[in-house]
Amino acid sequence: MSKRLILASNNTKKLCELQALVTPLGVELVTQGSLDIPEAEEPHVTFVENALAKARHAARLGKGPALADDSGLCVAALGGAPGVRSARYAVDAGRISEDAGRDRIDPANNAWLLEQMQGRTDRRAHFTCLLVAVRHADDPEPLIAEGHWEGTLLEAAQGEHGFGYDPLLWIGSHQQTAAQLAPEVKNGISHRAIACRTLIELIRTRWGEQWTWHTAA
Ligand code: IMP
Repeated sequence: MSKRLILASNNTKKLCELQALVTPLGVELVTQGSLDIPEAEEPHVTFVENALAKARHAARLGKGPALADDSGLCVAALGGAPGVRSARYAVDAGRISEDAGRDRIDPANNAWLLEQMQGRTDRRAHFTCLLVAVRHADDPEPLIAEGHWEGTLLEAAQGEHGFGYDPLLWIGSHQQTAAQLAPEVKNGISHRAIACRTLIELIRTRWGEQWTWHTAA
């Protein structure tokens, strides 16, 4: 028997990172796509509102407890942009079609960000990860955990691991970009790892065994 959480995302890279992170809880993540649940709208201007909307949507349609991750890159010199629009930064700017697919949109986002950063000396940026877990769609007490991971933006991409903006964020403590770090190293120190540790503790203390009725064989 394993406990299941519906993951309100179809991003396979995120799924891999999150699955490794929640393994200590004995939790299996099931993507909403595998349950034929369509993507939720993400109309809000904060990570927490979007994550909550995604978690409720997945719990409602999947009829079980759900986990959502809303995350992104916040750049100091750009007033926190691309922020909640990180996944669609180049799409919003008309640089690429939203139908292009993640493999082409991610490099387009990076190229657009580098253009926006041209000539700027303040290159501080951080990843934010906002995790929300709900036991059911109308759960009045969603569990909310946040993680930040600080770095500086390079002027050209470096590294092949990870996804999204990883090749551009230089992690001073490791003298590598997030995309040069081995996946298990990134998963020990990232914004998602920090948020996950907090969430795991919250699930243990707040949910206890109350959600075992959601188990699947
Ligand atoms: P979301 O799926 O709406 O939460 O958008 C997340 C977007 O933020 C991704 O598509 C990436 O562009 C960016 N992002 C989030 N986490 C990471 C990470 O760990 N590395 C690199 N980019 C990330």
